[in-house]
Amino acid sequence: MNIERFNKLKENFKNRNIDVEYFDSLEDVKLYLLDVIPLDCKVGIGHSGTLQKMNITELLIQRGNIVYDKELGKDRNESKAIKKEALLSDWYISGSNAVSVDGRIINVDHSGNRVAAITFGPDKVIIVVGVNKVVDTVKEGINRVKNIASPLNAKRAGYNPPCVELNKCVDCSSKERVCNYLSIVEGQTDGNRMKLCIVNEECGF
Ligand code: SF4
Repeated sequence: MNIERFNKLKENFKNRNIDVEYFDSLEDVKLYLLDVIPLDCKVGIGHSGTLQKMNITELLIQRGNIVYDKELGKDRNESKAIKKEALLSDWYISGSNAVSVDGRIINVDHSGNRVAAITFGPDKVIIVVGVNKVVDTVKEGINRVKNIASPLNAKRAGYNPPCVELNKCVDCSSKERVCNYLSIVEGQTDGNRMKLCIVNEECGF
């Protein structure tokens, strides 16, 4: 990502009261997270290939944080209970499906737990996004989450809505629809709550 584009993105998010930091690598983000999150805090994790690649759940648990990551649940009910606990954690770390240079964070969720926690609950939220998910406009962001992220996420999770075969969204009403909740973060009231970390790596999809 060139510096001019990043500066434009940062400025647009600043106008919406969201701070943005740039990192050269996921390793740098990992060190940043371990530095800023206090040891005595409860941390919720939004399911994300980017966060899994960083191994952040295990690292936080190993050093003593209480971590709510649905992947730690032994079955569906336990995972659901963990998702609820994550909504009331002190910190929440999540990936995102798309971030636009015009200053929006765009996500789709199957059950809504991640977009709920990003919107309200945890006092601190950090969104980690690879450069492959940066688009120019919110319209392109919605296009990305529907036609790129959703089919791949559906396939990964073992669901089979039409976009898995077609590699594009057909606005289905399938029982296996994975994009039930579309969220666009347009800004925030408390500028110290949510922070966006852009990583100069391809992360997730
Ligand atoms: S509406 Fe259906 S086809 Fe479109 S992205 Fe969502 S699950 Fe896929």
